[in-house]
Amino acid sequence: MSKIFDLFIIGGGINGAGIARDAAGRGMSVCLADKGEIGGATSSWSTKLIHGGLRYLENYEFKLVRESLKEREIVYKIAKSISKPIPFIIPYADKIRPAWLIRLGLFLYDNLGGKSNIPKSKTFDLKKKFPNILKEKYKTGFQYFDIQIDDKKLTKLNAQDAKRNKAKILEHNKVKKAEIIENEWVISLENGKKIKSKVLINASGPWINETLHKNIKIKSKKKIRLVKGSHIITKKLYKADIAFTFQNTDKRIIFVIPYKGKFSLIGTTEVEVNSPENKGISKNEIKYLIKSVNNYLKKQISTKDVVDTYSGIRPLIEDFNKASKVTRDYIFDLKVIKKLPLLNIYGGKLTTYRKLSEKVLIDLKKFLPKTKKGPWTDKKKLF
Ligand SMILES: Cc1cc2nc3c(=O)[nH]c(=O)nc-3n(C[C@H](O)[C@H](O)[C@H](O)COP(=O)(O)OP(=O)(O)OC[C@H]3O[C@@H](n4cnc5c(N)ncnc54)[C@H](O)[C@@H]3O)c2cc1C
Repeated sequence: MSKIFDLFIIGGGINGAGIARDAAGRGMSVCLADKGEIGGATSSWSTKLIHGGLRYLENYEFKLVRESLKEREIVYKIAKSISKPIPFIIPYADKIRPAWLIRLGLFLYDNLGGKSNIPKSKTFDLKKKFPNILKEKYKTGFQYFDIQIDDKKLTKLNAQDAKRNKAKILEHNKVKKAEIIENEWVISLENGKKIKSKVLINASGPWINETLHKNIKIKSKKKIRLVKGSHIITKKLYKADIAFTFQNTDKRIIFVIPYKGKFSLIGTTEVEVNSPENKGISKNEIKYLIKSVNNYLKKQISTKDVVDTYSGIRPLIEDFNKASKVTRDYIFDLKVIKKLPLLNIYGGKLTTYRKLSEKVLIDLKKFLPKTKKGPWTDKKKLF
């Protein structure tokens, strides 16, 4: 008789890989399948920040920011080899946000997460500290720190550690069908194999509802909004090892971040799309990002300076707000069908994947075998 896994995970993005690591490390038997490469989708198309999300404070998302700041500390500690703190500077821009609001936001950002090893924010004279980078009209800078990380490596390291703890990790193997046969989930893979499991997790990122409808044949009550976010990459625009947070007149913000030594990473846009399939950046998005940079930097750039681009699709939980205001938090949708659980994971951020994974195991506790080990991923380094 073929083996019955405790847990089967559809999707090897950061969320699927994080759950696989946590569960396998507690001694559960885990199988994960991805239709592509581990970390090959949204989890390698992010802005590559482990951050609290300063701008979510404006939407009063204190719980999300607090959890993200706490996770920033932990993820930096367990993944030091692939991450580093970088200073972000917000140039004060007349008529967009008042200085007191930025100061208040930074005060909360410094303190909401509790004790931190990451430097606190400060205000300074931009021209004295970083002359000749910004246009003359930008005089005051607010500095805070966040963590830059290799997102794809973070995902791969989680999957590798799961593998070390005997998880079965399958790449280039789409889940074609998942159905209940005789008190078990039976998962049919693209390679023709069938896998049995007690618990099924749908962590297929922007494909979440497609997987649910087409492959598991269940209707979802949760609506999502697919929002494309794009980045452009140019040769390094200035020498200093600092990032900028530029405020646009539409109230959105754009980051300019040092990237792979010689480059600057600039993003992101927010464009609603109908399909999870990633069609890449549009001309309008490139124009928008170039314009945002040219509003601030002395050095002006054009499309000729763009050496590369990438885009990712955010599956945001529909709450009928403007895209930039829709929550970046995650929610779980647990369905119990013929006594067997199916957990769908909606939304989320790279930053909160570890906590999300822990919460998944708490929510599924009664369906999973009892193991001696409790939460452990906040202490053990990824390598
Ligand atoms: C432009 C952009 C910038 C972002 N920047 C940041 C940031 O700086 N910091 C931050 O914290 N968060 C950021 N995020 C959010 C973060 O990237 C995502 O929350 C996270 O990567 C989502 O991971 P996931 O595992 O849910 O999805 P994904 O990484 O998309 O993984 C889902 C996986 O499921 C697989 N799959 C789908 N269907 C099937 C199937 N039927 N069978 C098998 N496999 C299947 C796919 O191949 C894919 O690999 C950003 C997102 C975007 C789009």
